[in-house]
Amino acid sequence: MSKETKVTLFHFIVWLLIVPPGITFLLATQMPKTVSPLYVTLFVLFGLLTVLFPIKKNGNTVTLLMWITLPSFLLYGLVIEVIVMQLSILGAIISTKNRQQTIQRFFVNSTMMFMLSLASAAAFHLVGGQIGSLEFWPMLLSVIVYRLTYTTTNLGFIQLYMRLRKMKLPFSAKEIGDEYATTVLILPLALSLYFMLQIVGIGTFLLMGLPFFCTIGMIRMYSQSEKVNGLLENAGSIGTELSLLTDRKRVTEQFVQQTCKLFNADSVLFFKYYEGWLELEIAFAKDRFVELHYGSIPVGEGVVGKVLETNEPVIYSKRKEWQNFATEFVPMELESMLCIPLSHNGLTIGVLSLGSNRRNAFKDYQLKVLELLGSYYIVAHEKSGYVQEAKVKSERCALTNLYNYRYLEEQLRIEMQRIHTGELDQLSLVMLDIDRFKGVNDTYGHQSGNDILCQLASILEEEIPPNGTVGRYGGEEFVFILPNYSKQDALEFAHAIRHRIKGHPFTIIQDLAENKQTIELFITTSIGVSNAPTDTDDAISLFRNADRALYIGAKQSGRDRVAAYSK
Ligand code: GH3
Ligand code: MG
Ligand code: MG
Repeated sequence: MSKETKVTLFHFIVWLLIVPPGITFLLATQMPKTVSPLYVTLFVLFGLLTVLFPIKKNGNTVTLLMWITLPSFLLYGLVIEVIVMQLSILGAIISTKNRQQTIQRFFVNSTMMFMLSLASAAAFHLVGGQIGSLEFWPMLLSVIVYRLTYTTTNLGFIQLYMRLRKMKLPFSAKEIGDEYATTVLILPLALSLYFMLQIVGIGTFLLMGLPFFCTIGMIRMYSQSEKVNGLLENAGSIGTELSLLTDRKRVTEQFVQQTCKLFNADSVLFFKYYEGWLELEIAFAKDRFVELHYGSIPVGEGVVGKVLETNEPVIYSKRKEWQNFATEFVPMELESMLCIPLSHNGLTIGVLSLGSNRRNAFKDYQLKVLELLGSYYIVAHEKSGYVQEAKVKSERCALTNLYNYRYLEEQLRIEMQRIHTGELDQLSLVMLDIDRFKGVNDTYGHQSGNDILCQLASILEEEIPPNGTVGRYGGEEFVFILPNYSKQDALEFAHAIRHRIKGHPFTIIQDLAENKQTIELFITTSIGVSNAPTDTDDAISLFRNADRALYIGAKQSGRDRVAAYSK
């Protein structure tokens, strides 16, 4: 037997020992002589309506049931009050959405309410309260005592119960204050209902019921719009957060994760759109990202495929509504779904699907907020794409597409930092310059010069060792950053490169000549090498040292050679 079943069984035994015998005893001993079955039916009906349409303050239900149970007590005494109270809470429990703990909660509430009825009635009689009395002031006094006894005992019971079950107390001091404050609302209502029933009779149910339930309806509508406002506010903050992110993947992850939290979903799946089909990109369930394996979903198939085809969002309240056409794998427990297409101005990014194991989990107003959040996402997604593109462009040379000076400098700074922290033992820099390149331009034209630079860039890229970086430092100068290369390793590397370039035929179109022939051309290079920490431990100095080695050691010594920096 599971722990939960044992707890339920315990609650049931306590209930069985107290409530049925208690009610039987009351029926046998306390039954009033004259009772109108119609009045009792109406009391029960009003009691049910009051618990079925509760009003909420900060997520907590405000209990107004006493506006009905108290007049039934004042009119007929304890036994009728107990019946009205018990049937009302039974109705409330049956209507709850969360079935799991329903039975357990019924036994706890029923037992507790029964005891509260007894305690409040005892206090009422103790201060001289009379059932059926028409004297206002003594009645008011006894009713205040009745209500205070009820509230105090109720809070005491809850506190005791929570402590015994080692649960967190469900309310703060302010909420306890609020509970006492509702007395100001309940007592005048209950007393008015009672006295008017005595004077006007059955018409009172209409006279007071109508304004009461209309007011409740208006309050509920207001709190609904408060809920929407709260949701919109949160969606706004999520939108702002998304817009600050520059990494596309992070934007999608954050969107999926925050959506799951905001809409209290059990799972959120993001399907990415490819030409003609969808593929699951990210799945978030139970507070974490999960790996799920779906095949490709063609447009028009399954729940998400249809959403994409029609470009219309859908809400499903229960399994029956979608299970016949869901082609994708879906968890057994899934009931409700909320799916929206993520597209904007003809641009389709994908489909977002929220799932819940509860029925009727998603409402229309949530769909509207999700659509808004979806549009925030699309904008953030687009923006992050542009930012990433701009970043890539700003790091590359437009002619050769190699990294540029800005990137090389930043990369060297990072690698040098790794030397400072001891993560890297050494680092070499190889700087390469084409010999007499001006002559190539002058003879064959600038365009031919450009072609040579591009072909050389391809060769250099092929030569990048693991973890190394190559970039265009300036006009016809290129740099390799070689982590973990000693000066000797770097010299050998430089020699190999110089040989390869020297033996490579570069093809150019002779655009300065009349016949624009394609010809082959050979070039040589001069190379300078420097090393950290042997030569320096400063990034800029490492560049300067390689430059010095290149010009003094290689160029001035006749070109087409490699030289190492020496102090
Ligand atoms: P050396 O380095 O051997 O001393 O002689 P050099 O002629 O290569 O050196 P110099 O510094 O005098 O000239 C470099 C030349 O490189 C000048 C310029 O015409 C050429 N150059 C620089 N950038 C580009 C470019 O983007 N495209 C072309 N076509 N030529 C370039
Ligand atoms: Mg040169
Ligand atoms: Mg140069």
